[in-house]
Amino acid sequence: MTETKCGACGMGRLRAEVLPEYSETIGGLPVVIKNAVIREYCNECGDETFEMPDSQNLYKAIAMVRSLIPVQLSGEEVRFIRKALGMNGRQFAAAMDVSPEMISRWENGCPGTGSVTEKLLRHNACALLHKAVPTLRYDHAEIAHMQILRSDMVGIDSVVFERIAQRGIGSGSDLRGWDRVQAA
Ligand SMILES: [Zn+2]
Repeated sequence: MTETKCGACGMGRLRAEVLPEYSETIGGLPVVIKNAVIREYCNECGDETFEMPDSQNLYKAIAMVRSLIPVQLSGEEVRFIRKALGMNGRQFAAAMDVSPEMISRWENGCPGTGSVTEKLLRHNACALLHKAVPTLRYDHAEIAHMQILRSDMVGIDSVVFERIAQRGIGSGSDLRGWDRVQAA
């Protein structure tokens, strides 16, 4: 553990701890992150900061998991998935075979994508993201058989994520990836 001086008060020393659980809404999805987020806090002024390790891959895992939840995507969620894919509006439009103007309309929540397009979007997102998140298993058929529910009719429970050893790699290895785990 390293100790550094607090930048906020200049007096105290910062201490760091890994939080057993950390809750936040990311890309519209309520998530709980287990045993990963680092909290740094000052013992004098109480100033605190949070650091999310491997956040880019976490966003990809969240985009995949959200794509597998059968509740209509909001404009904000479509935008989050596009960003998790690392695409700008033009690239995403090409991947979805629609105009950039259509992407911008989806992301502004108007008029919504419609269920056929939503399924394609979800398939594309999972197909393009799963290599970056090999720890998270999914079944393509989940989307094929999906009945998408209206977001004003149902809520979404929070999803718990944890970094686990990648499959096929020895447990002594440092290579870990995000997976969805059962809530405690
Ligand atoms: Zn301080």
